[in-house]
Order: sequence, then C-alpha cells, then structure tokens
Amino acid sequence: MTTVASKVAVIGCGISGAVCASQLARNGISVTVFELGRGPGGRMSQRREISEDGRELTFDHGAPYFTVTNPDVMSLVHDWESRGLVAEWKERFGVFDCVSKKFQDIEKEGLRKKYVGVPGMNSICKALCNESGVQHRFGNGVGKIEWLEDEDMWSLIGVNGEHLGHYKGVVSSDRLTFIPRVTSATGGPPIDMDVAPEMTLKVKELPVTPRFVLMLAFGEPLPSIPLKGFSFKNSEVLSWAYCESSKPGRSSACERWVLHSTVKYADNIIAQTGHQKLSSDTLTKIAEELNCEFESTIPVNSLPFFKRAHRWGSAFPSTSIADEEKCLWDGKKRLAVCGDFCVSPNVEGAVASGMAAAMKFTDILSSS
Ligand SMILES: Cc1cc2nc3c(=O)[nH]c(=O)nc-3n(C[C@H](O)[C@H](O)[C@H](O)COP(=O)(O)OP(=O)(O)OC[C@H]3O[C@@H](n4cnc5c(N)ncnc54)[C@H](O)[C@@H]3O)c2cc1C
Repeated sequence: MTTVASKVAVIGCGISGAVCASQLARNGISVTVFELGRGPGGRMSQRREISEDGRELTFDHGAPYFTVTNPDVMSLVHDWESRGLVAEWKERFGVFDCVSKKFQDIEKEGLRKKYVGVPGMNSICKALCNESGVQHRFGNGVGKIEWLEDEDMWSLIGVNGEHLGHYKGVVSSDRLTFIPRVTSATGGPPIDMDVAPEMTLKVKELPVTPRFVLMLAFGEPLPSIPLKGFSFKNSEVLSWAYCESSKPGRSSACERWVLHSTVKYADNIIAQTGHQKLSSDTLTKIAEELNCEFESTIPVNSLPFFKRAHRWGSAFPSTSIADEEKCLWDGKKRLAVCGDFCVSPNVEGAVASGMAAAMKFTDILSSS
C-alpha cells in the first residue's frame, strides 16, 4: 500500500470529528473520516421514522439545540448560519412543576441564542464532511490503530479486519476507541494501552451519564402546552421536553415532541438491563413508562400516534480532561483525541475540541 505524506484519519463523524476534518482540509491536509454509524452526526443525529400509517417523521433524538459563548466557535457558527446550515430557534423555554401542575416561563430577554441544525441537527456534520478535501466512509468503524515505528506512520484496520490505509496522523473523536467493544473483530480496543498509555488512562475511566429519550408524534396540536421547550420540576422520570416541529426548517405537518429522561431513571433501567443492545420489547416498555409519566403530569388533548424510545448509554461526560489544551495530543506519533469530554459536555465544547485538534496537525503538517 502506498503512503501519502500528509494524510490524516479522523475516527468518528460527530461534530468534533467533522469540525476537525473540515478545518484540516481547509488548511491543505488530506483527510478521511471513518464513522461507525450509517451516517454523520453522532450525538447530534437526526432520526427518521415511518409511522404505521406511512407518515415520515424526523426527530433530533440527541442534542436538541446548542448555545455558544466562545468567540472562535461563534465565528464558525456564524459561517454555518450564512450557509443555511444552522438557524436560531427563537422559542422561549420554561419549567413545568409536576406538583403545582403549572408552567413557568422563566427565560429572560438577553439569554443566549439557541441554535439548531437545518433541516436536522446532523446537517452541520453532513455538510462539513462533504467539503472539498474531506473523504468520508460511513458504516466503517475502526477496529484497530497500529503505530508503525519504522515507517513513522499509522495503519488502520476496520472492525471486520479490513485494511483501511496508512496515515501520517490520527484523530480519535470518541472515548470508546479506548474501550473494547463487542462489535470489534480485531479484539481489544482500537487504541491499545501500549501505544498511548497516558491518553488511555485519562480517557478510559471518564465517567459518563446516560439518558433515555422518547420520540412522540401527535395528530393534533397540543394547546395545553404553552412552551416549546421546558424542564420538569419534581419528576423522577422526565427531565426535559422539546417540541421538534417548532424548530426552523422542520415539517410542521404533525406536532412532534422529544422527551428526555432523568439520569436516575436511565441509571435504574441500565442497572436492570446492562449495556447490551435492548430488545424491542424493552424499548416499547420504556416508551410506555415515559409516555405515562408525560400524560399523567400534563393534560393533553390528543394521544400520540407514534412513540419510540432510544437509549443514550453515554449521553454526557461528567468531567472534562483537557480544559486548557482542549484536546489530547501526542506530537511524536501525531495522535490527537478530541470530543466534548475534553472541554465541556455540549456541542460548543465538542466544536472547540475539534478545532484545537486540527490546529495541532496544521502546525506540523501543512508545510510537509
Ligand atoms: C440526549 C442528549 C441531549 C443533549 N443535549 C444537548 C444540548 O441541549 N446542548 C448541547 O450543546 N449538547 C447537548 N448534548 C451533547 C452533545 O450532543 C454532545 O456534546 C456532542 O454532540 C458531542 O460531539 P462529539 O463529536 O464529541 O461526540 P459524538 O457525537 O459522540 O461523536 C463520536 C462519533 O464517533 C463514532 N465512533 C465511535 N467509535 C468509532 C470507531 N471505532 N470507528 C468509527 N467511528 C466511531 C460514533 O459513532 C460517533 O458518531 C446532548 C446529548 C444527548 C445524547
């Protein structure tokens, strides 16, 4: 296999990996993004469902929106806005108290703008990995990353044992690349302890919290809910609700909501089921439980014609591991690790981390 002088492999096409790949390509570095999933987005994915009566329904079942304060991230978001990839979600949010059964509109003027990808949260990742200079391979999980000391480069092997090429540098944008996965035919985690001992220690034990989400579609609008996004006060089961169909660029043909569970509820379920793939019966039971809590706390005039639950086993990292540098970096082997877990548990943190990882390579590779 021939080698290319300044080629970088990015593992994962969530927002941190997609931003990193885009920035590398803009700086003249050839880049290939490998994504385990069928498409880009990671925890900014959009789910497409077909209801029993054949209606197409879309849901942002991961991050519902994001906010920005960091000026560098803001300037990127403005660029995305000018390209029509994101728009401001101008609805006001509030709180629903499950004891008093009342909504409170607590948002004050001047709060941070809420941004959404258009027409779905995954639109940004989709656009970035289609930019000139970025190659993408979806449904291509990386199973092993080998450091070839004599050749001073990396060799990548897929989860099914296939050879994925040689690269001058590698960016890993998911902590799971340090953790063995049942899907890996190559045995062990993609990045092993011997290759990157310090990084492995930092990433492997990183605590994360899970969530379940419930996607609901209604045949009629729900006038008893005056807000398009609200948190639940005094619920052990539900934490947040977002009206999907009120976001810019979405179909408003039927009212769609995404409800998020509490961490406590998700922890309890995972304590019973473990982390293996959930059966459709279990997911149906969880969907019923979450919907039951919703219907019993908020009186709605219509029953959902569609409901489906999804588990996010690692929805949010609980700590960050690279506040200053914003990514982990081994300059000798040209290995970077980026992701929200490096900076802060949100889209903004993931973007900042992807930008920082790209900058490390740009500093050393763009002139080679
Ligand atoms: C339910 C929920 C609600 C949220 N709410 C908000 C919110 O309101 N505001 C906000 O800002 N953020 C929110 N977030 C967090 C936000 O979604 C994340 O911080 C951000 O999307 C993380 O991006 P990332 O690139 O770091 O990681 P990810 O999106 O997790 O991307 C990592 C990618 O790597 C891929 N991958 C893993 N292993 C391999 C492999 N071996 N080979 C190839 N690919 C691999 C994965 O499939 C994944 O696509 C929420 C998240 C969830 C789940």
